[in-house]
Amino acid sequence: MTLTNVIEVLEAAYPPARAESWDAVGLVSGDPAQPVRRVLLAVDPVAAVAEEALEWQADLIVTHHPLYLRGTTSVATTTPKGRLIHTLIKNDIALYTAHTNADVANPGVSDALARAVGLTGDLVPLQPFPDDPWRGLGRIGETAEETTLEEFAARAAKGLPRTSWGIRVAGDPSRRVTRVAVSGGAGDSLLGAARAAGVDVFLTADLRHHPASEFMEAGGPALIDAAHWATEWPWLDSAASILHASGVTVETRVSATVTDAWTRGY
Ligand SMILES: [Zn+2]
Repeated sequence: MTLTNVIEVLEAAYPPARAESWDAVGLVSGDPAQPVRRVLLAVDPVAAVAEEALEWQADLIVTHHPLYLRGTTSVATTTPKGRLIHTLIKNDIALYTAHTNADVANPGVSDALARAVGLTGDLVPLQPFPDDPWRGLGRIGETAEETTLEEFAARAAKGLPRTSWGIRVAGDPSRRVTRVAVSGGAGDSLLGAARAAGVDVFLTADLRHHPASEFMEAGGPALIDAAHWATEWPWLDSAASILHASGVTVETRVSATVTDAWTRGY
């Protein structure tokens, strides 16, 4: 297999044209003609992930978050990102990013999150594309049976990988829960859509005090705030499955390195 073969599969699943205009997706480093046998999947292109790739002798790292989002004039080793690029190029490790194009895909980041927290049945986008009701940001699904906010939160915490702070909940613990909206990563732009959708709870990451407080003052629904990394990590398995189902013969590994920015809670 060559890098081109792998990229073709990824771009069929996560068309770059669907990425937000401010985003930077696709091939960051590497030669499209280079052979690829081992693919490491990770949320963040950070030093710990590069080390893992080096140790496992990966030929390609697929990450959710871009390494460079804005213009840069130097990849010197005097910055962490420059050091990372040097490590990758010196060791023939390519880097490829599927970010907001993976968020809106079907199946995408929020589908994997919805399944991880126990939602069943059809999942529909919380904010569908005007031209495609099956693609877009966030997902709405249902719990297998009616439950309480407290029970659903416990289920969600168990279904997501462990991070230093786990999850935070806003709302009455005894509130009945069946319809749930989720959005991987920072989802506060979807608070209005979650309310309009009439769900019982909205689970996302990076919720700030004021938007969350105002949302709850206005009657909710309930909120669950998880670690950013934890909400996107379930997608890595889904992306690996897409590679395997495509027939490209590569070995895949989902990085279990916790790269959430927050490493300890007290
Ligand atoms: Zn993210």
